[in-house]
Amino acid sequence: MSRPAPQPAIAFLDLQAVNAPHQQNIRRATERVLGSGWYILGKELETFEQRFADYCGVRYCLGVGNGLDALTLILKAYEFPPGSEVIVPAQTFIASVLAVTHAGLKPVLVEPDPQTYLIDPDCIRAAITPRTRAILVVHLYGKCCQMEPITGLARQHGLKVIEDAAQAHGATHRNQKAGSLGDASGFSFYPVKNLGALGDGGAITTNDPALADRLRYLRNYGSQVKYVNAYVGSNSRLDELQAAILSEKLPYLNAENGRLRQLARRYLDGIAHPKVRLPPADTLAEDGWHLFVIRHPERQKLIDYLGHNGIQTAIHYPIPPHHQQAYSDLRSLSFPLTEQLHREVISLPLNTVLRDDEMERIIDTINRAPV
Ligand SMILES: *Cc1c(COP(=O)(O)O)cnc(C)c1O
Repeated sequence: MSRPAPQPAIAFLDLQAVNAPHQQNIRRATERVLGSGWYILGKELETFEQRFADYCGVRYCLGVGNGLDALTLILKAYEFPPGSEVIVPAQTFIASVLAVTHAGLKPVLVEPDPQTYLIDPDCIRAAITPRTRAILVVHLYGKCCQMEPITGLARQHGLKVIEDAAQAHGATHRNQKAGSLGDASGFSFYPVKNLGALGDGGAITTNDPALADRLRYLRNYGSQVKYVNAYVGSNSRLDELQAAILSEKLPYLNAENGRLRQLARRYLDGIAHPKVRLPPADTLAEDGWHLFVIRHPERQKLIDYLGHNGIQTAIHYPIPPHHQQAYSDLRSLSFPLTEQLHREVISLPLNTVLRDDEMERIIDTINRAPV
């Protein structure tokens, strides 16, 4: 008797394959920059900034070095008094919290909504103190936060609303794009993001002209005229090469998000296993679907079983920020829901080159899982 041939592995994410359809356009962008002899703060950046501002439906976009810098620079640009508090979800990638501490401010972590996994407005309300200056919302996994209660609280208490939109390029909330829902937003173009560069990159979007002007200084040594420094700034710029590549990829973002949404819908319809909990589908058509995150009470067993069947998965994220060694001062805090999510989440393959037959195999394998 012969064993069935092992099935080919399904990668969680193959960036070479994801960027392959863009190869010609990327070459064109690269040659444009090479031919120009201008690599930092030039025409390619201006063009991309204009296009991405238009795409998000805001007045200003500023390219910066990465997503963490985008958020940090926004928080610095507001010049909040020392000791100011920023409310941030406990359930997030650590960069959201790092931005707050890098800006010299105090992160006040709050639990997510158990249905959406996004920051819970009731928890925000309970965390507001006289020192609160801003709420940093995170559109985690590509799903926009329900903004109305949050902007309502912000208005009532005179707080800024900052979006961490690093996972939400093209996601919408009531027909408005992520990046246009708060006072200012930070994006990342890290290669795995829905709009990804071939290296590090980030952007800030805002409708606030004074903030945009200050950020133009802050990203460039505090200077807008060479060797004249008005602020203690950073060096954090989106270079011409990455900007040119992003300009070439941006026109395809909606179609690519559309494919991810189609895959997400199929997962949502197809996966039926008593122990697997699916992500919320209430705003399926609006979400950016950066990650497709399921939950299982004995996560490792399912990961091992899927791995054994040639299906690679990932965890976003295994350790919550308040349990990281880097934040020993937050370690005494307890966020039971956040901690439970961090124990149970598994990310399934979700990318623009995942084929229908591969997705059906993943669904079928999960539905037959003996764990
Ligand atoms: C990727 C990411 C960031 C940071 O972006 P970088 O460009 O890697 O610095 C911030 N927040 C979230 C939610 C992210 O996923």
